[in-house]
This record gives sequence, C-alpha cells and structure tokens, in this order.
Amino acid sequence: MPPANASELPHSGRPVLRFAPSPNGRLHLGHALSALTGFEMARRVGGRFLLRIEDIDVTRSRPEFVEGIVRDLEWLGITWEEPFWRQSARFAHYEAAAAKLRDAGLLYPCFASRAEILATAAPGAIDPDGAPLYPGLHRTLSADAIEQRRSRGEPYVMRIDMTAALATAASPTQGTSLTFTAFDADLRQQTITAQPARWGDAVIQRKDAPTSYHLSVVVDDAAQGVTHVVRGQDLLAATDMHRLLQTLLGLPAPAYHHHGLITDATGRKLSKSLKDTSLAELGASGLTLADVRRMIGLR
Ligand code: GLU
Repeated sequence: MPPANASELPHSGRPVLRFAPSPNGRLHLGHALSALTGFEMARRVGGRFLLRIEDIDVTRSRPEFVEGIVRDLEWLGITWEEPFWRQSARFAHYEAAAAKLRDAGLLYPCFASRAEILATAAPGAIDPDGAPLYPGLHRTLSADAIEQRRSRGEPYVMRIDMTAALATAASPTQGTSLTFTAFDADLRQQTITAQPARWGDAVIQRKDAPTSYHLSVVVDDAAQGVTHVVRGQDLLAATDMHRLLQTLLGLPAPAYHHHGLITDATGRKLSKSLKDTSLAELGASGLTLADVRRMIGLR
C-alpha cells in the first residue's frame, strides 16, 4: 500500500474510525478483516480508533460475548480508546432522534405480523436483506384505528414513510442530494448515489427497542464524530438508508469503505449465526495471528 496521510482521506479534521460489532456471538474471520482494516487505516492516517458494542438486541446480546470480543480484538493486536460505547446505554438518544422523525410526520406505527406481511407482499419484491418488501399495509391506518390497537396493547413497530422521507430529503431546505463518498483500500474516493427507496418503509423503531440498527448507527456515528466507516460489502445497501436518515436528521455524513466478504469453501458468507469457526477456535487450534491474516488476505 502506498504511504498515506490524513489529508488524503476525504475529511479535514483528525479522522475517526470505528469497529462496531454486535455481541451475539464470537468474532469470526469476517470481523477480523473489518476490525484490522479499520484499525490499520486509522494508524496510517494518524486517526483515532473506537470500539462500539451494538447491543440494541437485548435478547441476543450477552455479556460473555462482549468479553469475548474484547479478547479477540486484543489477540488481533488491535487497540481502541477507552471507555468503549455500548448502544444499550443510549436508548434515550435514539428515541430523541426517532421523535424528530415522528414530529416531521415521517414515521407511522405498523401492527402487521410477519405472516401478514408475507401473505400480502408482492411476489419477488424483496429488500436488500432479502426480506419481503413491506407492502404498505398500515401506512394509512386512521388515528382511531391506531388508538384502538394501541389501547388493546397490540405490539407495533415504527416504519419510515419512504415516499414522504424522500420528498423531505429532496426539498430545497434539506439541500443535499443523496450521495455518499466511498473510498477504497488505497484511499481513492468516488461519489456514489444512494438508493434508499429499495428498502421501502423500513422499520426504524423495533417492537422490543426504541430503535433499529439503521437509526442507532447513524445517531452514534454522528455522536462519536466518526469520519470514516469501514465495514463489509454486506452493509453496502444499508449505507443508502444511513444517508437518508443522516439527511433527515441533519447529521454529518462519514465516508465509507466496504471491504470484500470472506466466504467459506462453498462461497457462502461467514456469519455468527451459522456457527462459523470463530477466531477463538482458530486460535485454540494453534493458528497464529499471521495465519489468520493470511486467511483474510492481509499481509
Ligand atoms: N453491528 C453491525 C454488525 O455487527 C455492524 C455495524 C456497522 O459497521 O455499521 O453487523
């Protein structure tokens, strides 16, 4: 890699990078690539490096996984600024951001079950995560119907009204067009047009939490002054939604690097839920850090 300095990254101040794992399993090779790429870019450009634990899913997050993440990162030789943030301690901030969107008329409650959505979704219409594209079932529920369902204690999520959100984001007062700066491993930049419409009326506040991955990540990247996001290509489409939320909430836009994914022998993406070999298991089986680096294509 050619030598670089901070001025080569698309930002004027000191760069801030972060690794933001969800503690619902031990880290695997894909996480190692994200964490090492971000950490080493931060080093090259004299930037700061942060760890953020994304534990909004309180049913799946476990303290032993947080401890495991810390041990795995230490094994990788990665250091970060202490104390690190945990999203479970920041629900009030996400709720405040959601309230802004609600006050602007951009969120609505949806009581529909997964089965109802599946039954009514247009055949073949899926969002970038492969879930059926929400067919707008409860977009126009009357205030009375909402009140009745709420008073019966029916659980609901808050969805973004994508059509209204896009119109607001495109209005002259919001100004900016929905693009983001992408940078590659050599810090070369290009401008990409975001296409948030492909997410449809996505969930912004879940049933079990006053937030969602998309909302928390934009609130925290802004709150922590993150200037450069390094993460896997599986989150490339999420960046479209993040740019929309940043625009609606008046938050700054970081630049983004989406690295290639580590796949298994069958070409399938590694994931914690599929119980892929964790860094901990690889280390216990005698592999060294140099072996792991080679396996993920780093020298
Ligand atoms: N918490 C997310 C994950 O573990 C990553 C968030 C991000 O890097 O934006 O998949």
